Amino acid sequence: MSEQNQQPRNTRQRTAIRDAIERSDRPLGPQELLEISRTDVPSISLATVYRNINALLEEGEIIKVELPGQPALYESAGLKHHHHFHCEVCGKTFDIEGCPGNLKPLLPKGFRLTGHEITLYGVCAACG
Ligand SMILES: [Zn+2]
Ligand SMILES: [Zn+2]
Repeated sequence: MSEQNQQPRNTRQRTAIRDAIERSDRPLGPQELLEISRTDVPSISLATVYRNINALLEEGEIIKVELPGQPALYESAGLKHHHHFHCEVCGKTFDIEGCPGNLKPLLPKGFRLTGHEITLYGVCAACG
């Protein structure tokens, strides 16, 4: 296959994965991204999904969401500050709005805060 023939297919794969991440209201894992992007690009493989995830990470279009003990998930880099809720029944991770805000009082004396991540655990509405 020539470079020219391959280019549109690669672009379509990349676009399918980026769109799936952008349209989602929660961070997605590679297997979910495979299933969603298959509706646009039926021939897509898990290896291709991983390759495009890495490319989108490098381009700064998506970021990795890492919860302790969980496989990495991916979300749009452009989202405003938010936190996550992890359902212990279905294993999905959801975006939650809002932030408790001022966490500086928790710091030991002399420590400087540069950022925070908050994950709530529980049971989602669908599993409840
Ligand atoms: Zn659930
Ligand atoms: Zn926050």
